Amino acid sequence: MPFSEHFDSLPLESLVRRSNQSTSHAVQESLSRSRVTLEDFATLISPAAAASLETLSRLSQRMTQQRFGKVIRLFAPLYLSNECINNCQYCGFSRDNAILRVTLTLDDVRREAEALLGQGFRNILLVSGEHPKFVSDDYLRSCVSLLHQTVPGVSLEIGPMETTGYRPLVQAGAEGLVVYQETYDPRIYGEMHTAGPKRNFAWRMDTAERAYAAGFRRLGIGALYGLGDWRLEAISVAAHVQHLLRHCWKAQITISMPRLRPCAGEFEPLTHMTDREMVQAICAFRIMFPDVGLVLSTREPARLRDGLIPLGITLMSAGSHTEPGGYTGAGRDKLHLTEHGRIVAAPSGSAGDPQAKAAEQFNIADSRSPDEVALAIRRLGYDPVWKDWDSALVE
Ligand code: SF4
Repeated sequence: MPFSEHFDSLPLESLVRRSNQSTSHAVQESLSRSRVTLEDFATLISPAAAASLETLSRLSQRMTQQRFGKVIRLFAPLYLSNECINNCQYCGFSRDNAILRVTLTLDDVRREAEALLGQGFRNILLVSGEHPKFVSDDYLRSCVSLLHQTVPGVSLEIGPMETTGYRPLVQAGAEGLVVYQETYDPRIYGEMHTAGPKRNFAWRMDTAERAYAAGFRRLGIGALYGLGDWRLEAISVAAHVQHLLRHCWKAQITISMPRLRPCAGEFEPLTHMTDREMVQAICAFRIMFPDVGLVLSTREPARLRDGLIPLGITLMSAGSHTEPGGYTGAGRDKLHLTEHGRIVAAPSGSAGDPQAKAAEQFNIADSRSPDEVALAIRRLGYDPVWKDWDSALVE
């Protein structure tokens, strides 16, 4: 049974109620269990458990060090295209936003990858909006093949596909697939996604399983915090991870916890997750899933990122740009607007302007260079690892 069907039978409302009504006694009971259930997870992210955050943090830290050592794996996103046929209210790339767009050529992609390799990265996440006209399956396969020649770890964050569409990407060398449900609240999902194939809630939800069937062995999921109630989102993610661990057991699962950042379109978050609540959720995920990777992006500011390193995080991006060509300026000669799938000239002033660049997906909050992030990791007594996690363990 795919997760979307299992999801329909989850008692989400009662789990959220349980979380909101938990007592400190229930928190202690959940902490004492050797096997943490979804009900325990709801308790660990409760307002009552916030008073035990120090205990949660210590446990999460100890479990992370036992399973992963004092190591933070680094990766960088490489944006291929900011073309998109979807309208997602919270995203700068939404099709109705009149932004400067571009799809990198293979030469551009090579330049960007070489820049990242030069900075030390050996894990690259190829990111793209969803637009079959500009970002075709063949184009994506060519990009993966190209990177696979020099980059040991290539993962993808692209529009969802059928299993048959994913297979050539795995054969070309992609090993990881990242797909966020954004919000697990179907009502809010419907309101946020007003046009395009992304409107299909269940289709998106089952993407990780289709990717696994195609051979991907790293699967990343998560919610975008700032849309629905954060406790409902975190409980849903935990249920999703449980399902993937059962049904995609050969894959390494990672959880990301992106919080909304400013972007074109100026969407205002609907809900707020505080820093303390984020820490609590990270600890609860670690306590429930000792072996799952926890990912932290440059959406969060440097000080908070550094503070989260010892608490359970295992993967971090660094020095990120969220626009195509962000590392080298590649593609700036091809900037344009896109209207109804047709390229139209960029506004006068941007054509030929050496400062003009493609629109970014969102503003980043940690603008430190990769070297500065690596130094901060070392100062905390951890090792930054640039290369592939598995090969790092066996070498
Ligand atoms: S979130 Fe993804 S699908 Fe939605 S507009 Fe942005 S790039 Fe497109």
